[in-house]
Amino acid sequence: MIKLFWTQDDLDAFNIWAGEGTGFYLNQRSREEVMLHSATCPHYGIGDNFENLSKSKWAAETQDELNEWAMKNGWNQILCKDCLK
Ligand SMILES: [Zn+2]
Repeated sequence: MIKLFWTQDDLDAFNIWAGEGTGFYLNQRSREEVMLHSATCPHYGIGDNFENLSKSKWAAETQDELNEWAMKNGWNQILCKDCLK
C-alpha cells in the first residue's frame, strides 16, 4: 500500500513512518521527477525537506510497489546514490 504525505500537517506522520526504518519512499523533486530513497537514508533529518514538508512523499513497504506506481503515473524516477545502490 502506498501512503502519501503531502502537506505540513503530514510531517509528524512522515517522521513516525520514517522512524520505523523500514520501507522506501519517493520524494518529489520537480513536476516530472521523483527520487527513490530508503527509510533509513542519511538525508533523513538533515535535509530541509523534513522540517518543512514542502515536497510530496509517497511511501511503501517495497521498492517494487513504488517503481510500479511511478511508472503508471508517468514520473521519471531516479535513485538516491546515498542510500540505494
Ligand atoms: Zn536517499
